[in-house]
Amino acid sequence: MAAEKLNPVRNLEGYVGFANVPNQVYRKAVKHGFEFSLMVVGESGLGKSTLLNSLFLTDVYSAEYPGPSLRSKKTVQIQQTRVLLREGGVHLLLTVIDTPGFGDAINNADCWKPVVEFVESRFEEHLNAESRVNRRPLRDTRVHCCLYFLAPTGHGLKAIDIEFMKQLHERVNIIPLVAKADTMTVEECRQFKKQVLKDIQENEIHIYDFPEVDNEEDSKQTKKARASMPLAVMGSNVLVDSNGRKVRARVYPWGLAEVENSEHCDFSVLRDLLLRCHLQDLKDVTNTVHYENFRAQCLAGLAGPADGTRPRSSLGRSPLEQMESERHEQEGRLQRMEAEMDAVFAAKVQEKMQKLRSSEADLVKRQESMMNTLEVQRRDLEQRRRQFEEERQSLEAHILQLEQQANTGLRTLERN
Ligand code: GDP
Repeated sequence: MAAEKLNPVRNLEGYVGFANVPNQVYRKAVKHGFEFSLMVVGESGLGKSTLLNSLFLTDVYSAEYPGPSLRSKKTVQIQQTRVLLREGGVHLLLTVIDTPGFGDAINNADCWKPVVEFVESRFEEHLNAESRVNRRPLRDTRVHCCLYFLAPTGHGLKAIDIEFMKQLHERVNIIPLVAKADTMTVEECRQFKKQVLKDIQENEIHIYDFPEVDNEEDSKQTKKARASMPLAVMGSNVLVDSNGRKVRARVYPWGLAEVENSEHCDFSVLRDLLLRCHLQDLKDVTNTVHYENFRAQCLAGLAGPADGTRPRSSLGRSPLEQMESERHEQEGRLQRMEAEMDAVFAAKVQEKMQKLRSSEADLVKRQESMMNTLEVQRRDLEQRRRQFEEERQSLEAHILQLEQQANTGLRTLERN
């Protein structure tokens, strides 16, 4: 292999133009817009929809989405809502994935399964789309982040929380949140966070680690957020007046709990980290870590969860198997097409033969009728010829008779 030598960096003296490449990338990215899939998981009533609406300053749930009270409470369902948001000319196609019914049954032992299946089905879809011969522009429908809502019980993680996060942490970026932070005092909240962190470490759960950033201010934010994990949040859909300012808040007889006030809760820290600083990193980690793990498993023929929780679906195949099955399908399709074409050809030949046979029969019939006509004409002619012959003979006999008479008369005359 030829050795490659890297020369020292040379600073150009004039303007060449490639310094503009970041602007090209920026323009292209803005033109294409961004996609982000956010999953929210937690028992119903923990304020998931309210928080999402507060995060995006709009009603991200569409009209066809059933409101909280109408949602099923028996089994875990997966519901997706897609909404196109625009901020300062930048488009974000946000997919919100809700899991109504999670943790609401009497026995919640397996309520993480539908969520795991959903996350994996997105990976499978992506893998299949990537391994197709004819790759269309890929839409990224993988789950980039999961906001896991912890009930503000003050007693650390529950069994269902531990089980869920353990099952999901290798597949999706989990950000645990303490829901309804306004229902706890500052000290209770601090203690609860400490207990939750301890439980997370003891159970070896990997939650999303906000990475360091170059920007000084963002770096400060990230450090602060890391120190206050799990973030304690609250949401509100109403704007109230606070000292002449309109703020999102929860109104209590003793005062206001302001959603965006960092002294009241970590909502603004969450919003900054999630949307302003690390949205792209969440997507990158999904692609390079979680999806890569899944892909590697698939390539090794281990598709589907290692614990055998789910039978291998028709999608859960390695790319080789996938290509093989596509080849089979293609061959089957070709054979079907060939058989169809053969059948069409045979039908056409049959039709032509039928036509030929019927025109042949036609010809024979016409020939027969012509022969008959000719025979009739021939007989007629024969008849007329016979008549003519008879007439001719009688005429000749008559002439002969006349000649004889004339001769006799002549002789008589001569004699006389
Ligand atoms: P979801 O079922 O998890 O989506 O919960 P909702 O967003 O529908 O909220 C359920 C109830 O909790 C509603 O009455 C909300 O007004 C209330 N709620 C939402 N967020 C908060 C919060 O941060 N603090 C408090 N105290 N109540 C909240």
